[in-house]
Amino acid sequence: MPVTGLGPYDDTNIFARILRGEIPCRKVYEDAHVLAFHDIAPQAPVHVLVIPKGRYVSWADFSATAPDAELGAFCRAVGHVARELGLESDGYRLLANMGTQAGQEVPHFHMHLFAGKPLGPMIS
Ligand code: C5P
Repeated sequence: MPVTGLGPYDDTNIFARILRGEIPCRKVYEDAHVLAFHDIAPQAPVHVLVIPKGRYVSWADFSATAPDAELGAFCRAVGHVARELGLESDGYRLLANMGTQAGQEVPHFHMHLFAGKPLGPMIS
């Protein structure tokens, strides 16, 4: 697994617990490989997290080790969610924090989807 500063996959992380149904989430979309739900502390009017169901610590881990079917399903799901939420006309932002320096807090790979207002410059 690629080095991320996050350690090996920890099955007690909060998204693993959401996937097991131990913690509720406001679900937006689910299929065999992917779950999408509203972020609990939204940073934009629309703030959705899209996560693979597989045990991937980070983007580095997911992009290097996930089977093509899971990679493809994930990309399709992100696009599907954005389309279903009606975000394509005004646009949206995708962001994945990779590792500790980028500020990744939950050690299960996730893509943030932000929309619903002008989002301003990229990052500080
Ligand atoms: O990329 P990063 O790891 O910092 O983002 C984690 C995200 O998970 C945060 O936006 C946080 O609000 C969200 N979160 C959530 N539900 C939880 C715990 C965290 O939506 N139960």
